[in-house]
Amino acid sequence: MESADIIFKNAVILTMDENFRLYEPGALAVHGTDILAVGPEPEILAAYVAPEIIDCGGKVLMPGLVNAHTHVPMTLLRGLADDLRLDVWLMGYMMPVEREYVSPEFVQLGTKLACAEMIRGGTTTFTDMYYFEEDVAKAASAAGMRAICSQTVMKFPTPDAKFYEESLAMARDFIQRWKDHPLIVPSVSPHAPYTSTAEILRATAALAIEFDVPLHTHLSETALEVENMRNEQGMPVIPYVKKQDLFEAKVIAAHCVHIDEGEIRTLLHGKAGVAHNPSSNLKLASGVAPVKRMLELGLNVGIGTDGPASNNDLDMFEEMRLASFAQKGTSGDPTALPARTTLNMATRMGANALHIGEHTGSLEAGKHADLILVDISPVHNAPHFRRDPNSVYAQIVYASKSSDVTDVMVNGKFLMRNRDLLTLSEPELLAQGQEYARKIDSFLMAREGSVLSKLIAIGGTSEEESFEIQSKVRIASVEPILQALKNPEIEILRRRHYREYDAYFFFTSVEQGLLRYREDSFIENDSVTKVRSRLTLIGPTREDEFPQEVLLSRSRYLAPANQSVRFYREYFRPHQEKEIEKDRLRFLVKYHDIEFFINLDTISKPNLGCFMEIKSRTWSRQDAELKSKLVVDLIQLLGADPAEATSEDYIEMVR
Ligand SMILES: [Zn+2]
Repeated sequence: MESADIIFKNAVILTMDENFRLYEPGALAVHGTDILAVGPEPEILAAYVAPEIIDCGGKVLMPGLVNAHTHVPMTLLRGLADDLRLDVWLMGYMMPVEREYVSPEFVQLGTKLACAEMIRGGTTTFTDMYYFEEDVAKAASAAGMRAICSQTVMKFPTPDAKFYEESLAMARDFIQRWKDHPLIVPSVSPHAPYTSTAEILRATAALAIEFDVPLHTHLSETALEVENMRNEQGMPVIPYVKKQDLFEAKVIAAHCVHIDEGEIRTLLHGKAGVAHNPSSNLKLASGVAPVKRMLELGLNVGIGTDGPASNNDLDMFEEMRLASFAQKGTSGDPTALPARTTLNMATRMGANALHIGEHTGSLEAGKHADLILVDISPVHNAPHFRRDPNSVYAQIVYASKSSDVTDVMVNGKFLMRNRDLLTLSEPELLAQGQEYARKIDSFLMAREGSVLSKLIAIGGTSEEESFEIQSKVRIASVEPILQALKNPEIEILRRRHYREYDAYFFFTSVEQGLLRYREDSFIENDSVTKVRSRLTLIGPTREDEFPQEVLLSRSRYLAPANQSVRFYREYFRPHQEKEIEKDRLRFLVKYHDIEFFINLDTISKPNLGCFMEIKSRTWSRQDAELKSKLVVDLIQLLGADPAEATSEDYIEMVR
């Protein structure tokens, strides 16, 4: 008789090995961190002795679930902002809050909370991507979980690095120090192609290859991402990252929702594993990944929950059920993704997708003892049919709940017994988590009350105060003014032609100012040569009247507009919105040695007709008086009537 440390007996054992061997009643012997043997109960009990023999009472004993993609510290951001589009959710809420709050302490607490939830739900391995990833590794290993921990690298400043070189150096350092850890596989994460540069993709791949660790990234999550990549690089996402040598590394590719047959083959040849995240993809309306086809072609596809801020939980039972149903529902084929295949994705195939399949993912002698017990006796899972041996897989995937998991072992060590967590103190963690929620709530409440704070939160804002003389006069058409501009007294220094699109956002309180999204399309020889977008928060205006003109003083906050007008509309949620479209001929002229801007505008939306606008920056009252006189002269010289002049802005005309 060989000796073991623990023997589990009287269990329905789903080994999830290559042959899907199933033992009922089965037994399994654990020695140290590993599985010594698994098989029919009489055989195991005849061959092994152990000081501890656990009678499983007919529960299912199976490999622990493998969560192939998540961002565990985001448990602390769960429920913070929901029912938003991905860009508004990410750039408008997650990233600004993360910049403010994410620290090593935040990451450790969020990870511990996540580990408590995952252990309760039967997850024994997870693949993470976040900032301060070494703190995820510390907290996860202290909780006894197995994890692939990937340090994020991005082109933007992150909570743990101002420049990408810093996060890359952190990743290298982390990988070097944790490479031989028994529970943690350190790794590197270029966040996504759209948040990376080609240089980042190449550098992270080189690092992963150097240390032979996985490279974890998001690929082809949304249709927009693929469309942008086609526009910018002339190819979809998968060929683009291949060009950056990404597949030389052991890639874990999250999402892959929008990929075609050729791209599936590229992933296959690149030996990449895919992490399918059905809840997240459905919640953010990204779509449903072609998983059925990926499996037919032989790709290793695991199942992930994605971060708890976009799911909103880490429940792998729910994720399995949804993965199967989504494929059936979208393919019109109820035989797609049967229960056993789905459970395989969440266990052995998932571990293969993460490139750690030789260590975990199935109950086989020599693999680590990462296993769970699931009670299949509750009322929602009764009765039991055994005519078809596959019915037990259906019981697990379609009817079991994460709360049916009673016991969890990782690396030969119990993390939960009879639903008691052994490595984490839940009440303490919950109280600390609530304290963060309180702080983040008050931060966001203060921000949401101010358009300026919201503008600053999305970055790139600069302040500018301007004083200018401005006069506007209605004209019948642009042509006579163009003729009049040939007057030798007027020297034309510069001429530009563009189409201008403005969206003005109004807020209930006037003190908030007016937010303008402006898109200028520059035109040369009838074609658009360049498009520029800006956001301007226009503060309340102070006005001084002069004859026919007005001196304006106002503060403005300018920010480049990298997102669509739709993004800003959903992010700022204006009370009212107006659009103005015009064709603008803009001249910089010199008149009596003073520079003026003359705009000849044809306003097409709404149909307001033509206007001439004359403007000049000014610095003193004396200067303003002089310029004001010259503006009247100019109006007359160009054949318009100064008596018709108005100080009204176009936006005031349309209000
Ligand atoms: Zn993700």
